[in-house]
This record gives sequence, C-alpha cells and structure tokens, in this order.
Amino acid sequence: MSIYDAVIIGAGHNGLACAAHLGKRGWRVGVFEGAEQPGGAVKTLELTAPGFRHDFGAMNLNLFAGSAFHKAYAADLAAHGLQFVPVGDCFASVFPDGRWLGVSTDPAATQARIRAFSARDAETWERLLADFPARAPHLFALLGSPMKKRAIARIFFSVFRAGGFSGLLELTRFLLSSSRAWLDETFESDEIKALLGAWGMHIDFAPDIAGGAIFPYLEGMANQSFGMVLGKGGADTMIKALAAMVEATGGRIECGTPVARIVTEAGRASGVELADGRRIEARRAVIGSVAPRALNTLLPAGSGDSGFDARMRDFRHAPGTMMIHLALDDLPDWPDAALRRFAYVHLAPSLDRMAAAYAQAVAGLLPSEPVIVVGQPTAIDPGRAPEGKHVLWMQVRMAPAEIRGDAAGAIEARDWENAKEAFADRAIGIAERYVPGLKQKIIARRVFGPLDLEREDPNLVGGDQVCGSHHLAQNFIFRPAPGYADWHTPVRNFHLTGAATWPGAGVGAGSGYMLARQLAGG
Ligand SMILES: Cc1cc2nc3c(=O)[nH]c(=O)nc-3n(C[C@H](O)[C@H](O)[C@H](O)COP(=O)(O)OP(=O)(O)OC[C@H]3O[C@@H](n4cnc5c(N)ncnc54)[C@H](O)[C@@H]3O)c2cc1C
Repeated sequence: MSIYDAVIIGAGHNGLACAAHLGKRGWRVGVFEGAEQPGGAVKTLELTAPGFRHDFGAMNLNLFAGSAFHKAYAADLAAHGLQFVPVGDCFASVFPDGRWLGVSTDPAATQARIRAFSARDAETWERLLADFPARAPHLFALLGSPMKKRAIARIFFSVFRAGGFSGLLELTRFLLSSSRAWLDETFESDEIKALLGAWGMHIDFAPDIAGGAIFPYLEGMANQSFGMVLGKGGADTMIKALAAMVEATGGRIECGTPVARIVTEAGRASGVELADGRRIEARRAVIGSVAPRALNTLLPAGSGDSGFDARMRDFRHAPGTMMIHLALDDLPDWPDAALRRFAYVHLAPSLDRMAAAYAQAVAGLLPSEPVIVVGQPTAIDPGRAPEGKHVLWMQVRMAPAEIRGDAAGAIEARDWENAKEAFADRAIGIAERYVPGLKQKIIARRVFGPLDLEREDPNLVGGDQVCGSHHLAQNFIFRPAPGYADWHTPVRNFHLTGAATWPGAGVGAGSGYMLARQLAGG
C-alpha cells in the first residue's frame, strides 16, 4: 500500500496548487486524477484539426496571474515553464447595428469609445477608475480571505476605518446588488451596461440576480487597470508548471485513476480506494477537489452528519454551457477590424437579452438567443494555430442540462446527443449576423454540449462551468454549505477544495492554496 501525508482527489489547478504548497512544506503528497491528464477544466488540446490548439475550458488566466499563489510562487512557476501573454485589447461587445464598445488597457482609448455612446458615462468611467485603487484592496481582501469570523471582521473593520459607517453600508449594499441595479444607477448608456453586464454571464449572474454587481465592476476595472493574460501556447502552461512543481517537491500525480471511495475509520479519513482496487493511505489529510454531490458515492455511509450530507446532495448547480471550438482560415470579419485584436468579443447586446437567455435555460429551454462569448486566443498568441490560421473559442451561455424544450420552437431533440449540433448551428448563425462569412472560414469544428463537458470533467455537473451556483445563498460563508466554508467536513482529516468551495470558480487557485496554508502553515 502507498502511504502519503496527503492524498488529493483530482488534479485540477486547485488540487495541484494545494499539492504544490503542501509539498513545499515538506508533506509527501499523492494526487489521483480520473482523467488521462491533469488540468480538469484547464486543458489545451488539438480538438479540431492537427496543429490547432484549443483551450478546452478556461482561456483567461487573469485570476491565476493575480492570485496569492502566483505571488508566492512566481519564480518556481516560471522556472517550470509558466509563461503568460499579455492582452491589451481585453473585451468588447458588438451590437446589432455594427457599433461596438471595448475595454483596452489604454484608458484614453476606452474612454473615447464610451464617449461615443455617452459623455456622462465616459466621465463616470474615469471616476470609477480613479476610485478603484482605494476600493480594490477591500474587495480583493474579501475574495482572497478564508471565510472565518476573524478574517471577515478584519476586512469590515478596515472598510469602516477607511470610510466610516457610510462606507461600510455602501460596500454591503454593493455586494448585495444585482448587475442591473448597479449598472442602472451608475451608467446611462444601454450599450455600456451590456458591455459590463456580460461578465455576470461568465458565472451565473444574469442581470437581475442579487449579488452580481461585483463581477462586471471588477472585470471592468481590473481589465482596464491591469489588462488580461492568456497562457503562452495555451492555458495548460499553468497546469504543466503546477504539475512540475508538485513533482519537484517529491509529490506524485497519477492520471487515469479515479478515486472510488474515501476510507474512514472511526469518523476519520485514513486514505482512499481507487477504482482499480488499490488502497492509498493518507497519514494527515484526504483532500477532495470534487463536486459536492460526488460525496454520495465517495462516502457511501455518509459523513456522520446528515445535515451536511443533505447539503452536499442538494448543492445547487448553475445552468450549463456549450463550447464550440472552431479551426478557422482567418479571424472573423467584424464590422470594425479593430475587434480582431480583442481577446473576448461578447455577443450579448442587451441586459434584457441576457436575462431572457438565463430564464429560458433555468426553465429547461434551449435559449432562442443565447449569449455568446467569442474568444480569439490566436489574435494574441498566434502560435496556437498553423501559420496564418486561427482558433475560435465560443462559449454559449446558458444551456440547460436537461432539455425540456426549445424556446425558439425549432429543435425537436430533447437529448443533448441529438440537439447539440443544431444548437451549435443556432449559435454560429447568431455570430454570422455580426460577422457575415464566418461559416466559410471554418476548417473544422468540435462541439461540447453540457453533458460532454461533464464527461470530460465530472466537476462540471450538467455542464455547469463554475461548479455550483454562486448566488448569495451559496457563496461567501455559505459555500459549499453553512458552517463549512473553511474547507473542513464532518469527517476528521477529510477536506474539500475546488471551485465548489470558497472562493469559488475561476483559475485563482484560492481554495487549494488557502486550504494548504491552513493545513501546513506558510
Ligand atoms: C468552458 C469553461 C470555460 C471557463 N473559462 C474560464 C476562464 O476563462 N477563466 C477562468 O478563470 N475560469 C474559467 N472557467 C472556470 C475554471 O476553469 C474552473 O472554475 C476551474 O478550472 C476549476 O478548477 P478546480 O481545480 O476547482 O477543478 P477542476 O478543474 O474541475 O478539476 C477537478 C478535477 O478533479 C477530477 N476528479 C473529480 N472527481 C474525481 C475522482 N473521483 N477521482 C479522481 N479525479 C476526480 C476531475 O477529473 C478534474 O480533473 C471556465 C470553465 C469552463 C468549463
């Protein structure tokens, strides 16, 4: 039997960051991954045609580049090959009449674009940007701290010290606001509201969901202030560097080895049993980077706390995503060639359209007009495709895991295997309205419906790319369940990490790193 200090279930970036830090603190760590390669939602693969490298899931590595983990280990990661490519033209939205708005790192360029829609909004943008350095530390502290009483009290006290009681009220109100509420009271132009509101759709914050305002705000301000980064050659540069770091500390990563069960003795986790029957012993910790509902099978006799077990079983997932990967002869012919430089172009022309797509998906309907995020990684990092060619990363938001109908009344199929190509045609048809001729440029395409995403990574339950709704009742101190936001579980020595736990989805490695520090210090 193999013996480790810690056994980690799942080699997503959180599991690997956790393993790397524990390894650095002298722990002997074994990571067991069900898929044939590490990375989870962060993989770069030739999905369409030879020489075309597509980011299967995450493409934007801003959260990792700005993370506390990266700050602590930038030199190690660089030594193990991590390379970023900076993006100056970060995100844009194009509208049906061909006009567009985009955020580039040059504030004057962004402001001039906003001014073309509203002089008042251009001034507002300047003011928000000027205020950002004072506000950002509080927000980043909140998103980067363990959800423990003392840490929360410290953050709120520092807000109080900086802005008094009114500052505290203002922050609390902002955190509770929906995107639409904040955008409506901040801007007058519907286009700038749509430009920023689209960021909520990257998570599960349709415009009217309470707690969504922080995402458009932070993405707008952070991209404007710091730009965006992609991984050089693909987002998997991050995973390769993390995996190499784990191995350099003596850790072991085994792929193609799903964990079938957590072994417990007298309420304490003592190891895991792999699907191939092997038993692996963990002296100090078993760490599960899994979707909460997986505990039904990993802990067949339950955790010993029926309330916790019910919470894990009933953990809410967000609507799914469909991914379309295209190999292209050339970038799309946007109404303005400047849009060919942008990392993301959102086809999300209004808050109402976003709200409708979300409501339809939640009702089980294929949205008639889904929101589409068009990623153009080869505009920034051309080496991912053969000379002169491109890849397109198209995220279709939202898509129901179970299809009950089609909001457009055109797709008959009620199973994803039969519906996905038709739904992908709908998405490409929408894109064609903005970029006529797109279809002629397609060399090859590969579509992942919500259930395909889950098949590739079981944490993407029903294609939920954020591994669990981030609505207020399941975020902050409630993630993944009230009383368990600090990654512990009722089973001694068994901890949870990953996107389902605080601080949630994205490639910020927050939960893996904070848990590792909690366990091993440093
Ligand atoms: C399509 C898509 C686009 C995205 N775009 C972005 C983006 O641009 N930027 C961004 O910041 N975030 C993005 N995200 C979100 C982000 O990728 C995820 O939130 C993040 O990668 C989750 O990391 P993780 O380590 O928590 O888990 P995961 O990456 O989900 O990894 C979990 C791993 O655990 C393994 N596993 C699960 N159960 C078992 C078991 N029983 N035994 C063994 N192994 C197991 C899985 O196979 C998987 O490899 C995107 C996600 C998707 C799906």
